Amino acid sequence: MAPTSTVQLGVRGRTKMSGEKVLLVLDEQLRGHDTFLTAILHLDQPVRADGLQVRILTFDDVTVLSPLQSTALPEEGEKEWSGTLLLPHGLRPPRIPNDLAAAVAEAGIDPDAWSGPEAAAVGLPRRSRHRPASCRADQPHCPVVGEEDVSAPVRLVSLDVGYTLGEPTGRTVTQRLVELSALPPREVKRITQRTLHVLSPGDDGALAGLCAELGIGAGDFPHDHLPAHFTLWPGAVEAVARIAQVVPVVTLSNVSHWDEAGSDIAALLAPHIQAHHPSWRLGFAKPDPRAVQAVADRHGVRPAEVLHVGDSLDYDVRGALAAGAQALWITRESPSRAVLGLLAEHPGRVTVVRGLAEAADHIHQAVTSPPNPGRSCTTS
Ligand SMILES: [Mg+2]
Repeated sequence: MAPTSTVQLGVRGRTKMSGEKVLLVLDEQLRGHDTFLTAILHLDQPVRADGLQVRILTFDDVTVLSPLQSTALPEEGEKEWSGTLLLPHGLRPPRIPNDLAAAVAEAGIDPDAWSGPEAAAVGLPRRSRHRPASCRADQPHCPVVGEEDVSAPVRLVSLDVGYTLGEPTGRTVTQRLVELSALPPREVKRITQRTLHVLSPGDDGALAGLCAELGIGAGDFPHDHLPAHFTLWPGAVEAVARIAQVVPVVTLSNVSHWDEAGSDIAALLAPHIQAHHPSWRLGFAKPDPRAVQAVADRHGVRPAEVLHVGDSLDYDVRGALAAGAQALWITRESPSRAVLGLLAEHPGRVTVVRGLAEAADHIHQAVTSPPNPGRSCTTS
């Protein structure tokens, strides 16, 4: 019986022959995956193969997938490959080194081909208790936690803006407040994230409260702030357009009124998005689950039917999961063991990809493909 999957990762690399077996060597090591041992791989290239069972072999500086069944992979030369890896639900207790040693032998790998493989078989940290991915302890303003519906289709895609679609050029008002306040920068950012991003420009009382919290005079608030200009990254409009071909798209951005005043995000992404939802207009900022829930309400879908896409684990992924929505996390970092543990709390609700184009591909697949147990978030 195939394992129940919980985390999907976009992966790529090159093939390598080991004896008569074709192995799949990843371009980047998967950190924190060494206790999963087996997983399902949906191979996209050089040949299409769904539901391939593979054994994960993680060494010091390389991760190798060893297929547990015959494949149509070419055996001549090293070929580029890519696909989606579905990691099983739940971290298995480490049985290293015996299990890994057996897997290495089974895969026919010559240990001398990799640097320091022996070290990977020892010293793995013990399994840790996973915390639910609801709001963080320092986010007391997150009172609502949505219910997850793993069978819900994707009927709305919400896109984060900053560092998902592009980036601001110039100083933000938060950076100016960091300079004005005597508090540590991290504390100023935490306060502004909670307060400034949901502050209506006409709410003088709230603004005075923010200034008091930051320890600056109300008259010192940089009302003269010239908002940064927002620049979309190359390919962003094309990716949004591609997503909009199959599902309605909106934006959901944590941003203050003062930082956004100089940019018209809706115009930049027209005609592909149905609405732009900055936090200062919504009155809620991620990871407050009410941000995603409010957007879902406005577009007549359930939070479980929203797929939120963003670059921030803390704001985008946690905010989506807390609302009961699905999350697509764009990151070029290999998820840590702690992150994988967090994602394991939400089987099939999070997909990890490395870029916006890959996100668009995944959304097309999720929206247009008929139900397929091999492609779904949960297999059994
Ligand atoms: Mg962002």
